[in-house]
Amino acid sequence: MNNETIVVKFGGTSLGSIKLMHRAADIVLRHKQQFANVVVVVSAMGDQTDFLLDLFYEASSIPNLRELDVIASTGELVSAALFASILQSKGAASRSLSGAQALIKTDDNHGNSRITDIDVRNIDNLLEQGEIPVIAGYQGVTAQGEVTTLGRGGSDTTAAAIGAALQATQCFIYTDVKGIYTADPRICPEARLLDSIHFKEILELAALGTKVLHPRAVEFAGRHGLIMKVLSAFDEQHNPGTNIIFTSENDMEQPQVTGITYNIEEAKITLRSVPDRPGVAAELFSAIAEHGIDVDVIVQNIGAEGHTDISFTVHRSQLERAVATLDVIAPKLDCPTVETTTNVAKLSIVGVGMRGHAGIAAQMFKSLAEAKVNILMISTSEIKISAIIDDSFVLDAVRKLHSDFGLEAKEQIKAVSSVASNN
Ligand code: ASP
Ligand code: MG
Repeated sequence: MNNETIVVKFGGTSLGSIKLMHRAADIVLRHKQQFANVVVVVSAMGDQTDFLLDLFYEASSIPNLRELDVIASTGELVSAALFASILQSKGAASRSLSGAQALIKTDDNHGNSRITDIDVRNIDNLLEQGEIPVIAGYQGVTAQGEVTTLGRGGSDTTAAAIGAALQATQCFIYTDVKGIYTADPRICPEARLLDSIHFKEILELAALGTKVLHPRAVEFAGRHGLIMKVLSAFDEQHNPGTNIIFTSENDMEQPQVTGITYNIEEAKITLRSVPDRPGVAAELFSAIAEHGIDVDVIVQNIGAEGHTDISFTVHRSQLERAVATLDVIAPKLDCPTVETTTNVAKLSIVGVGMRGHAGIAAQMFKSLAEAKVNILMISTSEIKISAIIDDSFVLDAVRKLHSDFGLEAKEQIKAVSSVASNN
């Protein structure tokens, strides 16, 4: 046995029943034969968090986020205590810890708090006594002792943060899928399981719509160089899953495109005939930001006769608030017309290998043109290209891009390189 510390996290589906918890506990015990220190992080069982949140909203017409967090955090407490009990029944020394008992400190942003610090004293004490700490994910405690939650899917972040704080050598994220795919296999049957992905790629994919890992968990892992693996809790013996790696990008033989993702939770707002003068965009987007609305893609047309059009996208859930804000600000800016639509989706391709390859955007747009998909807006970064399109085309567009970029085949490295090198 080596003297490494690892973190092993289980998602809700992998803990959906006592029987499944027994299977998960066996995975932990197998790791324990190999690694000196094993720390477990658990999510709530199955859909328990949804159930708790529904109860809360049923009980209260004026939601109080402090109470919401107290309720939401209990799902993970139940699974942590059950899991520790199961480990004990199998002869292992184990103890459950709530976020507060594990000394996970957060800010006081209820419902979406950030971890500010972890004092590993309590976890370390248990490890020194040879115990397996089982920590309730998704929660922490403020300096004032208030319970908070980290946002939906936040148990991944607990696992990554604990891994970083303990300087763990690996963090295993056990889930109900086999790992990270080139596209969502439920809509793209050709999707291929990746054996590794660069952390910058999964960071982009998670932010752009891929639900397999909480984006903040990836941020933590990236900042601390923590090696993460995403793998299935149901056939881990036969499935190595996907490793998130930090190799210097220049050292990697890279396909230009690693993954395709989409997000249908976008809404588009267009302001027509906005006066084309300095300061208008500043005024508009300051007002939007002041109301806590996150703006995603922005496009401003070339002005004509002193006027221009500005379009931008927001999350669908924030559309109503954005419109209320614009009702006030648009007249002040002498903008006569505000149009909105929710029938849009964001389609994105991601890959650290696309850096400096102008041909990738061209190929993406050509594929979309062939599929008769009109591109409404475009946004790019060094390693991603996103297009806002009509949402009714998005699933076909994912499949078409997946096939045109040759993502189903391992050989795509060469296939796509030869396209790029013609440019
Ligand atoms: N149980 C929480 C949720 O459903 C946290 C998690 O599972 O990561 O969002
Ligand atoms: Mg999850």
